[in-house]
Amino acid sequence: MQKKEQLYEGKAKKVFATENPDYVIVSYKDDATAFNGLKKGTISGKGVINNKMSNMMMAMLEKKGIPTHFVEQLSDRDTVVKKVQIVPLEVIIRNVAAGSFSKRYGVPEGTKFSAPTIEFSYKNDELGDPLINDYHALALGLATAQEIDTIKKMAFAVNDAMIEFFKQLNIDLIDFKLEFGRFKGQILLADEISPDTCRFWEAGTWDTTKHVSLDKDRFRRDLGGVEDAYKEVFKRLTGE
Ligand code: UDP
Repeated sequence: MQKKEQLYEGKAKKVFATENPDYVIVSYKDDATAFNGLKKGTISGKGVINNKMSNMMMAMLEKKGIPTHFVEQLSDRDTVVKKVQIVPLEVIIRNVAAGSFSKRYGVPEGTKFSAPTIEFSYKNDELGDPLINDYHALALGLATAQEIDTIKKMAFAVNDAMIEFFKQLNIDLIDFKLEFGRFKGQILLADEISPDTCRFWEAGTWDTTKHVSLDKDRFRRDLGGVEDAYKEVFKRLTGE
């Protein structure tokens, strides 16, 4: 499959048309942003790792019965995916308090929840992706009640599968962000699953004040060792 015209350029990926109107090619870049684009940088090799890792995760989730947009990996950075219409919600699942949750509710990072939580942000850069609830999403016409129900069930199923998967790699899955899309009347898991979109902590360090981040927090918080953290997660995934 060949790249045709560029349809879109986002913060971390470009999207190209293909000869098949049902498919697009996503091309992963090394560019990194944080804090709604205020912090910018490059994480060398990130695009290759995120492309391959996200495809592995999508394939793993498909096997568990979760429908995704993934079609075929073309190269180190390029992947064919189904051309979905993105539901403008960032769906965040959390197992342990961190980041904005800790800040918003005054809960120390590393506090484990008795059950996972879900929250939605309205995907809108101008507004800074504000936190919203189901009723707001309905009122804004972002998704139907049925779609929201499907998205919640799928997101928790993804969490169950990913917790188990990463446990085997000695990684605790703290939280992550998912995006979903509509394709021929069905809701599919879309976007990416990578250290850009998940918090991965070295196993067993979540209940200490000195957790070890293997994810984009190393970039956001200037912790150093950003590239090495991405490489380490990838090594545990693939042995490479
Ligand atoms: N996240 C993301 N994109 C965003 C916001 C958050 O992928 O625009 C991910 C982030 O990597 C983390 C989870 O969602 O794994 C929860 O992030 P949080 O709400 O704590 O926000 P942050 O502290 O990153 O601003």
